[in-house]
Amino acid sequence: MTNTPEFFDDKPRDKCGVMAVFGHPRASELAYLGLYALQHRGQESAGIVAADGQNLYQVRGMGLLADVFRDQSRFKELEGAWAIGHVRYSTTGASSLTNVQPLVANTKDGPLAVAHNGNITNERMLRSRLEGDGAIFQTTSDSELFVHLMARSKAQTTAERLADAVRELEGAFSVVIITRDEVLAARDPQGFRPLAMGRKGDSYVFASETCAIDIIGGEYVRDVEAGEIVTVSPRGMESLRYAEANLSMCVFELIYFARPDSQIYGTSVDRVRRKLGKILAEEHPTSADIVISIPDSSNTSALGYSHQSGIRNEIGLIRNHYIGRTFINPSQFMRSYNSRIKYNAVRGVLEGRRVVVVDDSIVRGTTLKKSSRRFGAPGAKEVHVRIASPPVRWPCFYGMDYPTRRELIAAFASPEEIEAYLGVNSLKYLSLNGVLSATRDTPSNYCTACFSGQYPVALKDPAHIAELSEPDKEWARAELERVLRTME
Ligand code: SF4
Repeated sequence: MTNTPEFFDDKPRDKCGVMAVFGHPRASELAYLGLYALQHRGQESAGIVAADGQNLYQVRGMGLLADVFRDQSRFKELEGAWAIGHVRYSTTGASSLTNVQPLVANTKDGPLAVAHNGNITNERMLRSRLEGDGAIFQTTSDSELFVHLMARSKAQTTAERLADAVRELEGAFSVVIITRDEVLAARDPQGFRPLAMGRKGDSYVFASETCAIDIIGGEYVRDVEAGEIVTVSPRGMESLRYAEANLSMCVFELIYFARPDSQIYGTSVDRVRRKLGKILAEEHPTSADIVISIPDSSNTSALGYSHQSGIRNEIGLIRNHYIGRTFINPSQFMRSYNSRIKYNAVRGVLEGRRVVVVDDSIVRGTTLKKSSRRFGAPGAKEVHVRIASPPVRWPCFYGMDYPTRRELIAAFASPEEIEAYLGVNSLKYLSLNGVLSATRDTPSNYCTACFSGQYPVALKDPAHIAELSEPDKEWARAELERVLRTME
């Protein structure tokens, strides 16, 4: 048994984080440091591939980045002044060493390696077409499509071959690629996932979030634009527009996934989250003594709620930050204590108080249900839950690991039913308009499919379409009870 979301967390997991460095004598170490800042985007496996103008060198493995590079001498294997890296949480393809990225391949044009964040929605169709043409896939990851499609292109430059490849892809990709003497970075025309470009002295860096550029002492320059391929090589930096931008940036990155110290889509995540909390307080005020967050992802929106409402912000719930690797293979007995291990209430803060609990989202509802019991035990007088996003009713096919539709509590239960299920005094959600008004861009530039069911890239895969069908409510409720019984 692994630490699946079912047992540890009902939040969706982000797919991956990517990092690239070009033109620095310690490129692989800088990539490592950047990936360290991106570890929240994937904890299942990690890897770095470096190049020295002649060859590619790789270190890849399962587990956290620090596990893979426990032996620091491994950096000596990563020669060269350019490097790309990846931290992964698999949303397509099995969790196994063969799928660990960057994926390395030899093509007729030389070796290359790929690190990809996002999900390709037409993967199955492309894979079966390529296999029909004789391609032999080495992995079950959608990211291998980049390699096969680039290898088939007859274009002269790597950027043009990548352009030929990505024009066939549908869905989400923020990708970095390394060859013997180039680093390339590209983003899909919708710009689903973030990808920032920066400088560190004369070196170029690319990262899923700007916190990775900060940590290496670099400077953020701009985002890789939707529909753009940026190449850095000994010739300098070149930009190729392979498609018109048609923005549908993932709004959930701003709500939950990205770190608050990052800037994504040209805006500060911290600023957006404070605003989400502020608007939540305007839309759903209540009389209470304190505001607390479900740490850590809701801390900033709880601050916004507190500032706007004038209700004091307190730390009422403590999160154990060391849980991830500790309980990979717990016994059934230990697993029943999972939710207690993750969060514990601060009795002196909650006892006798009317409490507003701010959370960023409800997905399955199991974590919040268990947390609500934590508030009751120390004697909170009233519990009012405020969610800094609308009900999550639809799965994501663009790179977030959401449960299936029938496991999303808001897909089969009304807010009133969820309130009763949680056993709290009130439950209110931020409206979709509220979310969009907290962002900087025009509302139509964001993907909101998991809230609205409006998928910006049409779904063609029959398996995806099947997932959109109405959930069997009876099954869903029974399944929820089953999951809850496994949690103490
Ligand atoms: S469906 Fe939701 S999580 Fe997925 S890309 Fe769209 S907004 Fe983001």
